[in-house]
Amino acid sequence: MSGYQHILLAVDFMPGVENICQRAREVAECNGARLSVIHVIEPVVMAPPYEGMPSLPVDFEQQMLESARDSLRQLLDRQKMMESVEWSVEVGSVKWTIIEQAREQRVDLIVIGSHGRHGLERLLGSTANAVLHAAPCDVLAVHLKNG
Ligand code: AMP
Repeated sequence: MSGYQHILLAVDFMPGVENICQRAREVAECNGARLSVIHVIEPVVMAPPYEGMPSLPVDFEQQMLESARDSLRQLLDRQKMMESVEWSVEVGSVKWTIIEQAREQRVDLIVIGSHGRHGLERLLGSTANAVLHAAPCDVLAVHLKNG
């Protein structure tokens, strides 16, 4: 069986993200795979939903994008991954954007964090769960201890 060729690592900036990065890097190195990193921001509704509420500034989404890019750059710098990965910040539904990118980029493994939730939290669903059920490829859910 041949190893993974292209791995997509999905990151937020929550505690434990370093462990997910490390695991993704190890798997990529073991397989000699290309590693891409993605962070997704949900689109912002610009129009005020209620009369009398102020609108968000027009460039709000742009500012969010820029600060997300800065955070991702800093994370990859800290993890010493900046030189060896391709990375991007996308706008959209977190689950569907990860799935879409995996399809478009012909990814064969998605690496994602999982809090291993139970009870009501599990019923309500998690990103890892949602991605696992719709993924076009293997998914590695890295257990986050402080979840
Ligand atoms: P959650 O279920 O929201 O706690 O997230 C679990 C995992 O989903 C995180 O550890 C990340 O791997 C991934 N994830 C969550 N939010 C995002 C996001 N905005 N962009 C990319 N990946 C995310």
